[in-house]
Formats: sequence, structure tokens, C-alpha cells
Amino acid sequence: MQYFSTRSRSGGVDFARAALSGLAPDGGLFVPGEIPSYAPAALSSFPSMTFHDIAFETIKPYVCPEIPGTVLGDIIEAAYPFTAPLISAGDRLVLELFHGPTAAFKDFGARFMARTFSYLRRGETRPLRILAATSGDTGGAVADGFFRVEGISVTVLYPKGRVSPLQERQIAGLGENISALAVEGSFDDCQRMVKAAFGDVSLRKRYDLSSANSINVSRLIPQAVYYTAAAAAAFAGRTDPGGEATPRRAESGGKRFLPKAKTPVTFAVPSGNFGNLTAGLYAMKMGAPIEGFIAATNINRTVPDYLESGVYRTRLSQATISNAMDVGAPSNFERMNAHWSLEELRRILRGAWVSDEDTRKTIAAVHQNYGYYLDPHGAVGWKAADILGAEGSLAVLATAHPAKFAETVEDITGPVPRPPALSRVMERTVRARTIPAELSALAEALEA
Ligand SMILES: *Cc1c(COP(=O)(O)O)cnc(C)c1O
Repeated sequence: MQYFSTRSRSGGVDFARAALSGLAPDGGLFVPGEIPSYAPAALSSFPSMTFHDIAFETIKPYVCPEIPGTVLGDIIEAAYPFTAPLISAGDRLVLELFHGPTAAFKDFGARFMARTFSYLRRGETRPLRILAATSGDTGGAVADGFFRVEGISVTVLYPKGRVSPLQERQIAGLGENISALAVEGSFDDCQRMVKAAFGDVSLRKRYDLSSANSINVSRLIPQAVYYTAAAAAAFAGRTDPGGEATPRRAESGGKRFLPKAKTPVTFAVPSGNFGNLTAGLYAMKMGAPIEGFIAATNINRTVPDYLESGVYRTRLSQATISNAMDVGAPSNFERMNAHWSLEELRRILRGAWVSDEDTRKTIAAVHQNYGYYLDPHGAVGWKAADILGAEGSLAVLATAHPAKFAETVEDITGPVPRPPALSRVMERTVRARTIPAELSALAEALEA
């Protein structure tokens, strides 16, 4: 597969180059030259296939031939000792994406990426420096994914005081090959600093730099997997048969099997940088039985406004209780825009934004009605579907475990059962260096 910059159709590179360099030399994002299609035989057998096998079928065409099939199989197996259960709450489905070690969907991308990088860098002597800007969850997933991976060090930039205590410990509590920078600024500042570092010739000469944000195509591609797996399961009329992985479902919220409706599913996607949603668009384009998407945001409503007005206007990000989506200039918009025109996007994508107040009300209502605990991000997705009056088969993406945002959720629902991995994280000590929101400060920190 050849990858091109979103800003030019010349100078294609292979997957290894696209993944390791993160951003294209002209400042654009790498996109595949062509989005592949699933073979019809594969599509029809997905409902009975394992998550690992669906992952293999989905990712293979994007990474061949640089990653041989056997290696890809091993990477997938090591990256995903967990899956993405599809469960039901009332008439809706919830796709739970928080069963990885940091309890947010970003584990799917980050864990794949870490193992892929490790393979692609085999035999290199210069260490690879990963830069990652985070609004909260990326940093934790990337830190965890790359922790103790040989030959790779990670620097995470996060907006000081704007991530939760738990998130801060996930980002800044590991040490060793992971360093954390608390930036005096917003997430957009962090993202700008990372982009500036990539554009800085002297820094690029000095270090082998790469990014681990969703601007990196190797994080994006594996996120298409759970859309396909869930769409295939919903289409076949199945939710997660076991469901033991979900201790948070109260007795009253018992799941049931859906009738075999054979209607393609619509996904409500709580969005910030729009990497997750773009991965969903890839899955749909590949042929997964998907009807469309709801682009759900908090007050940082750049994309819903664009879908409505046709004018794309970025803005400064504002802090909300769904902080992983506090993004005013979503970086993956450039990818969406490169693949699909406004008209095409409007056919498959509807946008809605949700206030903090409505987010809280939704957490309360869903808990009361179904005994189900939504985190603030999932609640934005749920409410956006309410606003749009979504009908038919609808799956809301639960992008984080509610215990990850216990400060907000427990005020509303009372105590939320905590996965053991999260309790252990709280025992870590935060070791971050505070820096001003300037490239020079980042350069200095890299030196240290
Ligand atoms: C990162 C994140 C999002 C937003 O995902 P994007 O790919 O940036 O749109 C939503 N919810 C949670 C919990 C997240 O961590």
C-alpha cells in the first residue's frame, strides 16, 4: 500500500515510512492511496470470526508487504488481550471500547502502534523519539503501550491542570522511557508544539522523531477493526454473548439478543480530533455494513458546525467535562476532507453537539433507566443521537470506562465499580516537568 500526503498526490511512501515519520514532509497527514475493500467471503464470515481474525483481515492490506502476515498475526495477538463487546441498553447498542489497560479506546491504536514500531525499527541503533500531545487519554494509552519498549522513548505533552488525577498518573507515573511535560496552555497548544517540532529542521536532524497522535496513520487503521466487528455482529443480530467483561451493568440493565433486523448500524461517535470517526469511515468504505455516523462533540463543535454551514472554522478549545474531546482544530479533519467532499460527508455523517449540563443529565437518565454507567464522552454520543432523533439500529461508542472520570460520574450515579488496573494507577507518583507553551521549551526538555 502506498501512502500520500493529504496535501499532495505525488511522492507516495510505503507503510513503514508513513508510520515512522508520522506527519508528511509538507505538513499534511498520510492517507492510504486507496481504501481497500473486504473480500465478500470475508464480510459474510465476520459475524462468526474472532476479534483477532477480523483485525487481521482489516489491517493486512494496509501494512503489506512491510509487515509479513505471520508478524502481523503476532502483533495483533500481543496487542489485544481484550476485545470490544457490543452490549444492549434499552433499544440501543453500546460498543464498549474501554477494556484495555488504560480504560479508553485509544489502547486499540496505541498498543498496535507500539508493537508495529518495534518491528519496523528492528536493527536500528539510534533511539526513536515519540512525541505525543494529549488532551487526556492519548498520553496514557501511548505511555502504557510503549512502556519499556526497547529503542523507543516517549515524550508526552499534556495541558497542565486540565487532565484528571487518574489520567495524569497514567501519563506521568511510569518513568523510565516515558517522560511527561505539563504544558502551561491548552491541548491545542500541545498539538501545535508537536507539529512545530516536526517542522523544525534542526530538531529533526538531531533526533529520529515520530508522533503517536491520531495524526499517525498506524494508530488510525487498527481503530477500523472494532467498527467492522460490531457492525457485522449487529447486522447478524448478535450482541456480546458473554458480557462478563462488563461488571458495570446492573442487574436491571440485562442485555438481550436483538432480532435479526439485517439493517446496517449507525454509530454515534464521541469526537475530538476525529481520528476515531475517520477510522469508522474507513471501515464503512471497506464494506462493513454501516449506515452512517453521528459526529458527536461537546461545545467544541467545529465539525458539527461545518456539516451544517459548509464553512470550516476552527476555534480555540474550551474546557469541558468530556475533556478528551476538547479540541477546537481537529487534526483528522484534513483526512476526512481529503477522502470525502462536503456533500459526501453530509450523506453519511450527521453532527450534533452537547453541553456539559446535558451530558450530566444523560449520565443520570441512562443510569436510572437501564442501570448502565456512561462516562461523559459516551454520554455525549448518546445525547447527540437523542438530539438527532436517530432511528434504526444505533450503537453508541463508549470510549472510556466511567471510573476513569469518577469525579464527574459518581456525583451523579453514586459509586462506580472500578477495574483493578485503574485502582493501581492511583498509587503512582506524578513525575512531570512543567514548561511554557513554546517550541524552545520543548526542545530544551528533549535535551534533558
Ligand atoms: C480521545 C477520546 C475521544 C475523541 O477521539 P478522537 O479520535 O480524538 O475524536 C473520545 N472519548 C475519549 C474517552 C477519548 O479518550
